[in-house]
Amino acid sequence: MIKIYAVGIGPGDKDFITPQAEKIVSDCDVIIGYTAYLKLIPDLVTGKKVIDTGMKGETARCEKAFQEAKLGKKVAVISSGDAGIYGMASLLMEMAENETDIEIEVVPGITAAIAVAALLGAPLANDFAVVSLSDLLTPWQTIEKRLEAAALGDFVICLYNPGSKTRTNSLRLACEILLKHKHPQTQCGYVRNALRNNRQYQLCSLQELSAIHADMLTTVIVGNNDTKQIHGKLVTTRGYRF
Ligand code: SAH
Repeated sequence: MIKIYAVGIGPGDKDFITPQAEKIVSDCDVIIGYTAYLKLIPDLVTGKKVIDTGMKGETARCEKAFQEAKLGKKVAVISSGDAGIYGMASLLMEMAENETDIEIEVVPGITAAIAVAALLGAPLANDFAVVSLSDLLTPWQTIEKRLEAAALGDFVICLYNPGSKTRTNSLRLACEILLKHKHPQTQCGYVRNALRNNRQYQLCSLQELSAIHADMLTTVIVGNNDTKQIHGKLVTTRGYRF
């Protein structure tokens, strides 16, 4: 069996990569990933064959991984955060379905939701839903349906991919849907570049959230009915009495 590693390198600085992910990347000969992510771990990739197929080059990345692995190389395919959460792990497994000799091992990482929640406070203390606003692979109607269901269920909602250079309206549209079922003063927060050098974060209300500019380096958290600001942090209370 040929093994290919789908490695999550965490949200940013090298301090947030797990020791296991670090060891596997160090042991591999070929590292495949998007340059922006590989730049986060320069020490780990120097001297190795690095393959970047650019953004939207996900299927090409998997094909390259299979080719290199079949040549006998130890291959790691890198995702930011966790490789299984909007990452490369599922596509690698899907594309390996018809390969008889390739096995994919997933190496977990700290996903953006966790990194962002820690910076904002403790907003994910109760049930939460994660929704990506990218309609590249998921139709917008499906995204709308999921947002509506999450709002009806009073989940804390974590929004990945809230915007991009070309997709500037998604967060505003998402907020419109959430505002159908949630109070405009619902407490929210957003983080850009979590756990990287130039991190920025801010708390706001759901009403204010619809007007912010969110790009592809941002993750948003929308609180539930029990989410409050405590000493400048976003906290979802759980109903303890003290
Ligand atoms: N596999 C990744 C998610 C990739 S989808 C993970 O598990 O985190 C890309 C989205 O992740 C971005 O649009 C953004 O919403 C979020 N993201 C990734 N890294 C981030 C960071 N350091 N700070 C804030 N958001 C981040």
